[in-house]
Amino acid sequence: MSSEQTHVIVGAGMAGAKAAETLREEGFDGRIVLIGAEQERPYDRPPLSKGYLLGDQDRDSVFLHPLNWYGDNHVELLTGRRVSHLDRAAHEVELAGGERIGYTKALLATGSSPRRLKVDGSDLDGVHYLRRFPQSDDLRTAFATGGRVVVVGAGWIGLETAAAARKAGCEVTVVEPAASPLSVALGPEMGAFFGDVHRRHGVDVRLGVGVTGFKGAGKLAAVATDAGDIPADIVVVGIGARPNTELAEDAGLTVDNGVHVDSALRTEDPDVLAAGDIASVPNSRYGQRIRVEHWQNAVDSGPAAAKSMLGQDVVYDQIPYFFTDQYDLGMEFAGWFAPGGYDRVVTRGDVEGQAFHAFWLAGDQVVAGMHVNLWDDGIGPVQELIRSGKTVDAARLADPDTPIA
Ligand SMILES: Cc1cc2nc3c(=O)[nH]c(=O)nc-3n(C[C@H](O)[C@H](O)[C@H](O)COP(=O)(O)OP(=O)(O)OC[C@H]3O[C@@H](n4cnc5c(N)ncnc54)[C@H](O)[C@@H]3O)c2cc1C
Repeated sequence: MSSEQTHVIVGAGMAGAKAAETLREEGFDGRIVLIGAEQERPYDRPPLSKGYLLGDQDRDSVFLHPLNWYGDNHVELLTGRRVSHLDRAAHEVELAGGERIGYTKALLATGSSPRRLKVDGSDLDGVHYLRRFPQSDDLRTAFATGGRVVVVGAGWIGLETAAAARKAGCEVTVVEPAASPLSVALGPEMGAFFGDVHRRHGVDVRLGVGVTGFKGAGKLAAVATDAGDIPADIVVVGIGARPNTELAEDAGLTVDNGVHVDSALRTEDPDVLAAGDIASVPNSRYGQRIRVEHWQNAVDSGPAAAKSMLGQDVVYDQIPYFFTDQYDLGMEFAGWFAPGGYDRVVTRGDVEGQAFHAFWLAGDQVVAGMHVNLWDDGIGPVQELIRSGKTVDAARLADPDTPIA
């Protein structure tokens, strides 16, 4: 009887909360315990570097469910509680402080943490990271006072934060050791496009420059780089994230750039599953495991894991999807390639005018595509094209009069 079962979800982020929601929607009438280390109930992270940081979105709109949803759905939400140990033999999780909770199935959805820049001066007042709600609040307050902002890392979080700082009226410098922004995510061609967007908005984008330290007496005064010092009042470090896989590792599960799961999101222990940022999932389309640190993956893999916990047949085999908003630019991206895993980029539409598609081709196949500000069709036709695996004619692909379909 499911009413005698307890499903424990470790990590009350997007994947964990979506899993709890799906367990109830699918009729599970046993106990659901959702445990989160943060003080807040589950919330959406993308607004923390976009609408909420910009002040366009209010606090309430960022939470995934109203407060009463948890009680109404008999989901026991424990906030501000960290799971310190997964005891697979006893089928129990242990919380910091020693409390133990037994599980029938456990879902690990512990997400990621920002990579730390280990240089002198990292503890100076004025050095920020962005992953959690209070950190977005702190940045919002800091940007409101104006001043000189240095963003370390031209990845998604760095660039979105740079846009928010510009909107707040700050002077912004982005420092990136690679030769283009977003070089891993998009490659040099479209990375350069995003660099130009920021330059047009008055950001000083410095490429090929590494940060060697932060200077100041108690309070940040400058960012030291291998190309000289940059005076700064605020620094935002956005140099990527690492998956929180410690619980799985300590429990003897296979971890190698993420927690290894099968296509039903089960680890080698069928009673322990993983979803969201931490899950390394075999993908038949790409013929290898992939781990995706994107919102849509958390939205979809949480429910898929929940169904798998209930014994349903699940094959989680998604085409990764990502979106960003920066200034007046909205973008959606679908697909995946390993660094250097494409031969050329084909664009169609008005790149200068920020209304176009870009396609990444390996041979004559589209492995990834994005649209910038073309919301009529959205990303659907691009996903279809990737899914079809069809070969394409690059000249027709570049021609806006040839429908993508
Ligand atoms: C500022 C920001 C902006 C973003 N913008 C975008 C975007 O525009 N588009 C996009 O596609 N993606 C974006 N992302 C990425 C996206 O938010 C993540 O991929 C998504 O949040 C992953 O969800 P998750 O549930 O796997 O993990 P998380 O959201 O990280 O949630 C995991 C939770 O588990 C908790 N936890 C960890 N360990 C324990 C433990 N031992 N015990 C209890 N709890 C624990 C953590 O505290 C956390 O609350 C953004 C991320 C950030 C930080």
